[in-house]
Amino acid sequence: MHQVQPYAFKALITFIFLLRLSVAESVSAQEKAQEETEARSQTSQISQRDHSLQLSNASPLQGETIKVTSTAGDAQTSPAVSFNGESIKMFPAESRKGNETGGDGTRYEALLAIPVLLTPGNYPVKVGNRSQTIHVQNAHFRIQNLTLPKDKDNFNASPGEKEEMNKAKATLTDTRMWNGIFEKPVSGARMSSSFGVRRRVNGKLLPDYFHSGADFAAGIGTPIKSVAPGVVIAARPHKIAKLHGNFVCIDHGQGVISIYIHMNSIDVKKGDRVEAGQKLGTVGRTGRANGPHLHFGIYVNQTATNPKFWFEQNF
Ligand SMILES: [Zn+2]
Repeated sequence: MHQVQPYAFKALITFIFLLRLSVAESVSAQEKAQEETEARSQTSQISQRDHSLQLSNASPLQGETIKVTSTAGDAQTSPAVSFNGESIKMFPAESRKGNETGGDGTRYEALLAIPVLLTPGNYPVKVGNRSQTIHVQNAHFRIQNLTLPKDKDNFNASPGEKEEMNKAKATLTDTRMWNGIFEKPVSGARMSSSFGVRRRVNGKLLPDYFHSGADFAAGIGTPIKSVAPGVVIAARPHKIAKLHGNFVCIDHGQGVISIYIHMNSIDVKKGDRVEAGQKLGTVGRTGRANGPHLHFGIYVNQTATNPKFWFEQNF
C-alpha cells in the first residue's frame, strides 16, 4: 500500500497534467480559429476596399481627358494613379452631389489627360495593386504647313514669362471648384484653330510642337469669360510677355487650370475668386498673335488637354 501510493499519485499528477494540456490545446485551437476568422474578414474588407478601378473611357483619343475612379486606399491616405511614368494624386469624391459611395469604401477620383504626343497603343493605368489597360487612339491631328523666314521661326518668350506660366500650370489645390460642363470663354465666337494641330515649318514637322489650346477669333475688346468657377493664379497685365501677351490663369482645383492668352485688357487680379461666366478681360492680339483672337487652354495635371471635351462632358 505504502509502495502503491506514489504510483497512484504519479498517475493522478499525469492525468491532471494531460487534462490541463488538452484544455490548453482546445483553448489555443479556439483562439486560432477566431484569429483565422478575423484574418479572413480583414482580407475580405481589404479586397472590398481594393476591388474597384474604373475608367470613364478605356479607348481615349490623344489629347482627351478621362476620369479614373477607385475605392482603393483608406480614409487616411489618398491613393495615386500611375500612368505613363507619372503619379497623379486622387481626391475623395463623396463630398460631391450625385456621387454615391459604394459600400464602406471611400471613392477617389483623378483626371488623366492623355498627352497629344503619346504614341497610340496600350498603356496600363494602375491604382495600388489594380491595373487596367487603356487603348490610346490616334486623334489624327491636322498638320499645318508653314513657310517662314528663318528669323521668324521662333517662340521666344520674355524673361520670366514661361516660368510664370509653368508655375501656374503646376498649381495643385485640393478643392474642386467646378461642377458641370465648362462654358465657352467667348460667346458666339468662331473657333479659328482647333486643339492639337501640328506644324510643318519649311517642310519639316516640328517634333514637339502641337497647338496646346483652341483659338477663338473675335474682335479686339470682345469680353472673355471664365469657363468655370475658380481662383485667379496669374494675371499679367503689362504688354511685356512677348509670347503670350497679356494672360490670365485660373485654378479650378484638383489640378485643372484654364489659361487665356493674347488678351487686350485684364479685369481681374491674382487671388480673385471668379464665377463661371465672369468677365476676365477682353480679346486682343498681344504677344505672338497674327490677329485678334483668344488662345484658350485647359491643363490637367500640367498636361494640355482638348477643351472640346470639357465643353461637352462633366468631368
Ligand atoms: Zn492658339
